[in-house]
Formats: sequence, structure tokens, C-alpha cells
Amino acid sequence: MPLPVLERAASEMSNWSDAQGRPSGMGVMEMSHRSSAFTAIVQHAERTLRGLLAVPEHFKILFMQGGGLAQNAIVPMNLCGLPGAGLAAADFVVTGSWSQKSLQEATKYCSAQSAASSADGSFHRIPDPAAWQLRSDARYVHVCSNETIHGVEFHSLPDLAALGSKAPLVIDFSSHVASRPVDWSKVGLAFAGAQKNLGPAGLTLVVVREDLLGHALDICPSAMDYTKVAANASLYNTPPTFGIYMASLVFDWLVAQGGVKAIELRNIEKAALLFQTIDGSDLYFNPVDAGCRSRMNVPFFLREPALEAAFLQGAQEAGLLQLKGHKSVGGLRASIYNAMPLEGVQALVAYMRSFERTRA
Ligand SMILES: *Cc1c(COP(=O)(O)O)cnc(C)c1O
Repeated sequence: MPLPVLERAASEMSNWSDAQGRPSGMGVMEMSHRSSAFTAIVQHAERTLRGLLAVPEHFKILFMQGGGLAQNAIVPMNLCGLPGAGLAAADFVVTGSWSQKSLQEATKYCSAQSAASSADGSFHRIPDPAAWQLRSDARYVHVCSNETIHGVEFHSLPDLAALGSKAPLVIDFSSHVASRPVDWSKVGLAFAGAQKNLGPAGLTLVVVREDLLGHALDICPSAMDYTKVAANASLYNTPPTFGIYMASLVFDWLVAQGGVKAIELRNIEKAALLFQTIDGSDLYFNPVDAGCRSRMNVPFFLREPALEAAFLQGAQEAGLLQLKGHKSVGGLRASIYNAMPLEGVQALVAYMRSFERTRA
């Protein structure tokens, strides 16, 4: 979280003030989600995000709950309704743990298949789109546009129309949402758990093209039916009000930083500094293909794995936290989301260089 956002939230924790500075006499957690005060907050959040990400008017912005993993079920439940019996088709490009999970979950609701996978290459690359096995009757094609665990990012989104597919592209952009602009002409639906780049856990963002509404399976729970949520402007049931408020402060902070194009330049600079340090060293390495290395999540490994504990211990002492790699891949990982300043990455690479000099 950006520090100014936390400080602002702390300052109005018990007495939120509106845009004109008029105190409401209560904190956001104490407001009815139908109050005029909260209505102003959720409308401001939607408007600011729409401007930041340049979301076209024919897309709905939904604030939901359940996180990214729940969307693995909610997406097929909303897009795979068919008149009569039979299972609709959905294709998945498997580039790491998250897209693999999405495919597994979707098999409960549709005929889900892998269109391409880089599992044979230990998820270090993105399979060539020209070779994707896309079915003509697929209701959607799913990609995880940033694989948080394996550190693999689509630097540009696939153009399904150019690949001969009419299916809408669904992206799980949980771990790089708002880190760069989005080309909405290529996207039908995008979803993200808020906790990586937008705010606290508990809020889920869904951006969905209007023509994809109205195709839910009968079993889709009403509170998870995009059509109902959209018709009620994300207030079909009580939304995660405090999470929406925190996200709106993050959106304001992003605007103050110059917007997502400016943040993208900073993210490129941060990631480049870290990758230069890794590639220029004899101790560290990152196995991901240069063309798809994530700018948000940088997994790296030590050529002498026995030094890992000492690396983490020294990092902790230097105030560099949460550098242990995900348990499924091991090693180390630096997550350098929007809120991580360049100075944070500079401190990390200074530590990495000094550790290599003294220990290796
Ligand atoms: C963190 C993450 C999720 C997980 O979402 P939950 O909110 O924990 O359900 C899903 N997809 C990606 C790409 C993630 O990084």
C-alpha cells in the first residue's frame, strides 16, 4: 500500500469527510452501503478507475468479493450458459500455477481445455500464440496476464481476432492490474483480486464487456451473477465497503503519480534495475525468457542454494522483507508492485551485491 494512502485512511478512520471537506461524523466501516456518503465513495472509485485504465463505456466495472480464485468459478458460471443441455467450451493458456488453477476449477462448469501450455518448460515462457489450439465454439479464452508465482508476464495481450478466434479474451490481471495501460480492444473480461495492487484483500475487481452479460448458468448464485451486480451498480448485496474506499484512495494516489503510463515507466525502471543485477551476477539467476519476464514479481535463485537462509536473514536485518519464494517453486521472489518505490529496489540490489561480495 502507498504510505500516503495508509496515512489518509488513518486520519479519517473514525470521521470520514466528503470531497468538500465536510465531516460525516462516522468512519467508512460504520456507514450504510446505501447512504449518500458511501454512494459518493463507490461512484468516485468507479469513475477514477475508469479514467485511470481508460475503460470504455461499453464495459461495466464491478466491485465484488471472493478474490481471484472465486472468479475461476464465477467466470464460467457467467459466460457458459447454454440453452438446453450440454457443456459450453472454454480454452485456457496455461503459463503457470494461476492459469492452471483457473483451468482446473472451470472443468466443474464447462468443457475446459488447455489450448497451450508451457508446463514442459517449467513455466518459463509463453507458448507461441500461432500454435494455440483454439476451439471455434469456445465461449472464452483465458490467460493469466501476469503469473505471480512463476514471474511470467504478457507484455502485450494476445489478439484473438488475429488468431482467427471470435471468442472473448478473459484475463486474470490480479497481480499487475493498474501497473500499465490495458488494450481493451483485445479484452472481453478482466478480473483481479485487489490485494496485490489496488487495496486490501476482500475486494475483487471485474471489468466486463456489456455484450457478455446475460449468459449465466442457472446455478450461478445471484450475488455472483454479473448481470445482477451490474444492474445494481455493485450494490446488489453489501459490497466490501472499506475495501472499495481504500481502493479509491489508491486510485487517487495513482492519478497523483501521473496515471498508469507514468507508473508503467517507473515499473519498467524498477524491474530493469533488478534484472540487470541478477543477470550481471555469478550468484543469482532468473530462469524466465527475457521477452516475458514479469515487472511485478521477480523470482530469483541462488546458484548456491545453501546460502538462501543466510540471504533471507541478512535481508530481514536490512529491513528487506517477504523475499522468500513461493513454496511451490522455492528460491526467492521480489514482488515490486506499484507501491514499491524505486528506492526500495535500490536498497534490495545494494544488499544483493554486498551479499554476493561477502558470502559467495
Ligand atoms: C493472488 C492471485 C490470485 C488469488 O486470488 P485470491 O484473492 O487469493 O483468491 C489469483 N490470480 C492471480 C494471478 C494472483 O496473483
